[in-house]
Amino acid sequence: MLEIDGKEGGGQLLRTALSLSLCTGQAFRMEQIRAKRSRPGLMRQHLTAVQAAREVGDALVSGAVPGSMTLQFTPRTVRGGEYRWSIGTAGSTTLVLQTILPALWLAGVSARLHLEGGTHNPLAPSADFLADSFLPLMRRMGLNAQLSIERHGFYPAGGGALTMGIVESTAPAPLHLAARGELLEMSATALMSSIPGRVGERELDVIARRLPIAAEHRHIRQAIGSPGPGNTLMVRVQNAEIVELFTAFGERGVSAERVAELVSSEVSRYLESGAAVGPHLADQLLLPLALAGGGSFSTQTPTAHARSNAALIEKFLPVEIEFEQKGSDQWWVSV
Ligand code: ATP
Repeated sequence: MLEIDGKEGGGQLLRTALSLSLCTGQAFRMEQIRAKRSRPGLMRQHLTAVQAAREVGDALVSGAVPGSMTLQFTPRTVRGGEYRWSIGTAGSTTLVLQTILPALWLAGVSARLHLEGGTHNPLAPSADFLADSFLPLMRRMGLNAQLSIERHGFYPAGGGALTMGIVESTAPAPLHLAARGELLEMSATALMSSIPGRVGERELDVIARRLPIAAEHRHIRQAIGSPGPGNTLMVRVQNAEIVELFTAFGERGVSAERVAELVSSEVSRYLESGAAVGPHLADQLLLPLALAGGGSFSTQTPTAHARSNAALIEKFLPVEIEFEQKGSDQWWVSV
């Protein structure tokens, strides 16, 4: 039983532990889960990730109750098939999906996954980010999976729906992303659900002033089937070697202009850094690269998420993850 202290991280440490436990067959016990968060312990979204991991890995679990700060997880056999999980709130469907995806990939099974909850949540990868940025890289490494967004779901109403089909994938192969390659196209999309007024136009006006995105690449898109209001502003940077997607979320009390400025600043920092991989994608690539037994990429200054995730991966797998500074906002990460 691997003993893990969850104190220094958030939900990501738990999800990484679940993923790696399923992939390696190694049981773990995590203490102090999300100890430093304002509402510590397991919340709804984390419990759904545990439930999904338990079902996929036929695992024995104790401590999976709301607010619990200790979890013990013993996986048995990873099984493909048809699965359905509803988070019940606007909790992120994509984070649950990312938790079990590596195990289904490694096991080489076929599966169909249906998830309900939030598809575009602050502080989580959006479904568009998964579809456009994360999954194409995973496919390059051998994953055979398709994602479809059936309904959009935003905080707080949720109600979004995603389906993922996975067909017997080949074992993960190393991925090296030294450079992003030539910038091919940039576009911006304001995704809207029941938002009155000119919010989308105002966001795109700021984008037009702040970023080199031509009018024909600035779009307003109506969300599909979302039961509640929501607004997400996404900027897609398509480079020859990688697509990065940056996202900001409209919220009550935050002006449309401010939302657009937040995402523009993130994009500008990425463009100026010269790195291939943005800060969010960086922490999400570590686990697949470690499973592949190697890989490397240039990225922006590593986040606390990337560092704590790397340390946990090193506990489960015989890999070393190195972070080396190459410029003011450029780092080299190798696994
Ligand atoms: P906690 O509430 O304990 O902080 P959590 O379960 O909400 O935890 P985190 O541990 O914060 O989740 O992990 C969030 C994950 O979502 C990280 O992998 C992070 O890179 C990713 N993420 C956050 N924002 C974005 C974004 N805008 N685009 C892509 N990925 C994102």
